[in-house]
Amino acid sequence: MPGSSRLPVSLPNFRKQYSFSRPSSRQQAVTQGLDIIRNLLLVLFILRYTRKTWIHLRGYGLIGAIERLYKDVYKRLYGLFLKLPFVQAKVRADVDKAIMELETKLVPSGPGVTKYTALPASGWTAEQVREELKKLGEMKHTRWEDGRVSGAVYHGGDELSDLQGEAFRKFGVSNPIHPDVFPAVRKMEAEVVAMTLALFNAPETGAGVTTSGGTESILMAVLAARQKAYHERGVREPEIILPETAHTAFRKAGEYFKIKIHLVPCPHPSYRVSTSHVSRLINSNTIMLVGSAPNFPHGIVDDIPALSRLAVSKNLPLHVDCCLGSFVIPFLARAGFDAPDFDFRVPGVTSISVDTHKYGFAPKGNSCVLYRSSAMRSFQYYICPDWSGGVYASPNMAGSRPGALIAGCWASLMNMGESGYIDTCHKVVGAAKRVEDAVRESPKLKHSLQIVGKPMVSVVAFRSPVGAKNGPDFVDIYSVADGMSAKGWHLNALQDPPAIHVAVTLPIVAAVEELVKDLEDVVESVKGQVEDGKKGDAAALYGVAGALPDKSIVNELAAGFLNSLYKV
Ligand SMILES: *Cc1c(COP(=O)(O)O)cnc(C)c1O
Repeated sequence: MPGSSRLPVSLPNFRKQYSFSRPSSRQQAVTQGLDIIRNLLLVLFILRYTRKTWIHLRGYGLIGAIERLYKDVYKRLYGLFLKLPFVQAKVRADVDKAIMELETKLVPSGPGVTKYTALPASGWTAEQVREELKKLGEMKHTRWEDGRVSGAVYHGGDELSDLQGEAFRKFGVSNPIHPDVFPAVRKMEAEVVAMTLALFNAPETGAGVTTSGGTESILMAVLAARQKAYHERGVREPEIILPETAHTAFRKAGEYFKIKIHLVPCPHPSYRVSTSHVSRLINSNTIMLVGSAPNFPHGIVDDIPALSRLAVSKNLPLHVDCCLGSFVIPFLARAGFDAPDFDFRVPGVTSISVDTHKYGFAPKGNSCVLYRSSAMRSFQYYICPDWSGGVYASPNMAGSRPGALIAGCWASLMNMGESGYIDTCHKVVGAAKRVEDAVRESPKLKHSLQIVGKPMVSVVAFRSPVGAKNGPDFVDIYSVADGMSAKGWHLNALQDPPAIHVAVTLPIVAAVEELVKDLEDVVESVKGQVEDGKKGDAAALYGVAGALPDKSIVNELAAGFLNSLYKV
């Protein structure tokens, strides 16, 4: 064949270069292949960390990232310092002492107290039980009945309580896990969800479930977002972008469901979440944006329309936490107050948590989580098709659930009706405005206290004015909290920044003038005091906690507190 001699490589050579037949060149090839794989892996590894670093730098900015690094190192060093043997001994002693004091406050003891740590050998008579329950009901406590407790007791009046009692009695044994056995509970649950969806202007496609409380509603919304991102986008390292003022339930969800939480500042003067920070933190691992309407610490409603624009443009779910706003915020406009945009009418809002057991006045243990579509809801379902106990399907965290609570919730919603909630909104928001106006205008308060942002619903927070210096009008806000405690009030102490809030409930409405007067007296009495040496509980706890870079001591104290809840 004449043409064959013109081949650039002679056949034997070709074979030598590319053949795998000889052992030595096979080895060589394997080594080469391994080299390539190793280099590829190295490149992937470097790319991955470069990308992570880039996302981190973009999210927090160079200065922010350095600040975070500095804080982290400082915190770790401080943690090591706390572990030094002599420091540890001192810390241990202090923590133990504080926990002992806590226990003596919480756990009654002494000659008059009988403790029951084992079953009575033969059961008590109903009369005996009743007698003991009566005594238990009369234990010394902070007087919520006189409107002395911020938040905590969302009470719709004695008549409603009686009605709830009747609902409990009728549906005490019921369990929605068996809808065929308890069809009425299924009906009531579906109706509670439907009424709540309507109240929050859900579209036709809207869907929801009831849960045991705000925390479970939030856990479920976060879980649904995580599952959705996993199934639709393959997100394996999920992240949530959270206003730092959002409820801790989101951080709990992060811990339970292995989701990274980015906290976004909510700066003075609006104390709303900084949407430019939110925007910078969004990346391919983001599964959800969050806004509160309103938040727990300051009663501030985040800029939901701005968050919605971000969510829509990045095609991300946006959860609005209306746990606290519950059945007050939807009635603001109809009660004649300024109303923000917060519900499903804002296009990017995909889920909302609503606590019927707050201003819905349902018995404790009731809440709803609502979704824009039933497709989103199904991401929170748990289904086990192959259990030996049968095909198992459950809509939320619990298995068996108390039908009695659903009946109590249904009864409350029906009994209150729109008129009842509009009336409540008038009273509660009116009283909150009264506290706000007093702090802004009263000559005794306005130079020493400053309202945090622009509260719109039922919570009013105040602090020592930004930049206030020690002087005749200066107050240490925690001393104000302790002064109010001494007068029998139970207000909430807040941190970062130090502040106090009042969450107005119906019992507080009746006591609001007293509250303002006592606040004026307390502020007068602590004005100008910088250090009085002897600090009250709030000043002691938050004074120390705020100054600690590493919170392990606070963690130990808090765990000790939880332990003490189970001391007989
Ligand atoms: C109360 C509350 C929740 C949920 O709390 P639960 O105690 O679990 O009902 C969530 N978000 C806000 C803003 C709240 O005030």
